[in-house]
Amino acid sequence: MKVYNTLTNQKEEFIPLEPGKVKMYVCGPTVYDYIHIGNARPYVIFDTIRRYMEYKGYEVNYVQNFTDVDDKIIKKAIAEGVDSKVISERYIAEAKKDAEGLNVEPATKNPKVTEEMDGIISMIQTLIDKGYAYEINGSVFYDTKAFHDYGKLSGKNIDDLEAGARIAVDENKKNPMDFVLWKPKKDGEPYWESPWGQGRPGWHIECSVMAKKYLGDTIDIHAGGEDLIFPHHENEIAQSEAANGKPFAKYWLHNGFINVDNKKMSKSLGNFFTLREIVEHIPYDVVRFFILSGHYRSPINFSKELMEAAGAGLDRIKNAYKSLVFMESKAQGTMTDEEKKLNEDADKFRVQFEAAMDDDFNTADAVTAIFEIAKFSNINVNENSSKEFVTAIREKFLKLCTILGIKPQEETKDKQISPDEVESLIAERTAAKKSKDFARADAIREELSAKGVVIEDTRAGVRWSYK
Ligand code: AMP
Ligand code: ZN
Repeated sequence: MKVYNTLTNQKEEFIPLEPGKVKMYVCGPTVYDYIHIGNARPYVIFDTIRRYMEYKGYEVNYVQNFTDVDDKIIKKAIAEGVDSKVISERYIAEAKKDAEGLNVEPATKNPKVTEEMDGIISMIQTLIDKGYAYEINGSVFYDTKAFHDYGKLSGKNIDDLEAGARIAVDENKKNPMDFVLWKPKKDGEPYWESPWGQGRPGWHIECSVMAKKYLGDTIDIHAGGEDLIFPHHENEIAQSEAANGKPFAKYWLHNGFINVDNKKMSKSLGNFFTLREIVEHIPYDVVRFFILSGHYRSPINFSKELMEAAGAGLDRIKNAYKSLVFMESKAQGTMTDEEKKLNEDADKFRVQFEAAMDDDFNTADAVTAIFEIAKFSNINVNENSSKEFVTAIREKFLKLCTILGIKPQEETKDKQISPDEVESLIAERTAAKKSKDFARADAIREELSAKGVVIEDTRAGVRWSYK
């Protein structure tokens, strides 16, 4: 399995620190609002990478933080006249709902800044003790000049950065590139006690602390959107490696951005959408499928047309799968010799899928393998196929979908009637038709329709689906 490592700027063979285990840290959202469509990308991409690693037999310890101490949260809390915690807890709950909608597996742990203050203070103290940080007037800054590897992730040179930097906003800093680890309390803001007075942490320190606590000094994968490479991830490396005296992360993975109508999404351009706004028109599973249809490192463009195309593609997959489920319910018997050969031949889609995913998680090509197994089943599975054969193909098909977090089967949990109830009404209708009680048969069709089910009489029996 090859992964593109931002640290080395090349694809590398993935070799975990410990055989069979993967320690993965993904930077999570700042919880001051609903997550936006751009935030959905790292959610879906790194969940898919995790699922693929689990499929390959790794035990994945997946940590994703919630940044619940931040200027924007405080601003909103003041505007609403509530405590910051009310805002952050509200949007943590909403982010979790969106993640569930996108079929993202829950993280092993979702640490929050407000619950990690002891670890944060202790790492800052270690950095001061080791000569990598200094305190001035209740603020603590990281001394970037003291860390000789500063710039190794982003490929930036500290002297160039300094030359390009505007005059330091904060006059307490020794150098413009130094960044804040602890800031003193301001009126009306939440604060914590510390050896440097009451205050709160800067943004970068939380991830160093949480990764160390939940995964260890050195982790396998650190991930996030490409905007985080500099300064956030560069600063995380500076903090963790200086404090722990060990390499921080072996592989750094970054997703490209989602643009809207070919422009960077921004509130001022009016092309900024929360995921919640989007899913009023486009189902969550189409959003997930859309994200998977491009390579995670390339920028992708979000537009109505592209979404519709993704929806149509996903429908093709669902329809092929639905047909298999229907045929499986009617079919009987074991595989013929010809079916055995076809079944073996169908393994090529898994091989194609794995080759794509082993090449830096090329989900676009992995999706192609799913389209191909859908096409194969449309051509090769029919009403005369044996049950054993239909089941075998359906299971292969489902396996590939599941690794990408695609559910090809109808969701039933929001339906007004369960599949079992539908089946039993259909059986009753068939019996009514046989005994020429057409009024009853029609009444059942009406009842099903009212409950969101359409039925179709075919030579092989009654087919049904949710509308
Ligand atoms: P934030 O809440 O802005 O810190 O973002 C949370 C995650 O979403 C980070 O991994 C960001 O890099 C990522 N992200 C933010 N905007 C976009 C975007 N437009 N496209 C893709 N990823 C994004
Ligand atoms: Zn982070």
